[in-house]
Amino acid sequence: MANRKIDDSASVVYEVDDHTSLLLRALDEIGISTHQAYGSTFVMPREKRYLTLDNVSRYLNELNGKPQYRAMADKPYPYLEVRQSSYADRIGMYMMGKFYFSDIDDGGEWREYGQLLLLHEFAHYLGGSGHGDRFRKAYLHLIAEEMSPELSRYMQIRMYEETENIKKMKGK
Ligand SMILES: [Zn+2]
Repeated sequence: MANRKIDDSASVVYEVDDHTSLLLRALDEIGISTHQAYGSTFVMPREKRYLTLDNVSRYLNELNGKPQYRAMADKPYPYLEVRQSSYADRIGMYMMGKFYFSDIDDGGEWREYGQLLLLHEFAHYLGGSGHGDRFRKAYLHLIAEEMSPELSRYMQIRMYEETENIKKMKGK
C-alpha cells in the first residue's frame, strides 16, 4: 500500500484485520481460546505482540529465513530492513525490501506491534502491493502457518462475507 487510495479490496482486508485483532484481544483478556461462528467452533491463537522495532525486525527476518516464504516473493531480499516512519499508511507499509512502521511507542499495551499487522505487511513482500487474490493467498497462508489454520479459515470466511456486503451496499 504505497499510497492512501483505499479500494474495495483494501477495505475488505482492513475491516477483517481490525475485527480479528479486536476479537483475539477480547478472547485473550477473558481467557477463552475458542470462538463460535458460522455454526462452527474455531480454536483461536494468541496474537504475539512486539514492543520495539528491533523485535519486529527480528521477527520479519526470521520469517524471511524460511525458504518456503522466500520462494513466494517476486523479488526476494537477503535482509529486510525495518524503519520508523511517520508516512506509513495505517501504521505499516512495505516497499522494496523495507518495512516502515509508524511510531506507536506511547507506552500503552494497545499500541504494540501485533503479529497480524506484521504478517499483513510481510504478505505484501510475498504477494505484491494490492489487496486482491494474490495478496490474500499469501496472507492467509502466513496466518495458517504462523498463527493457526483455524484463524486463517475464519478470516477467509470474513473476507468473503465482507466482499459480499460491499457488493450488496453498492447494488451490484
Ligand atoms: Zn496492506
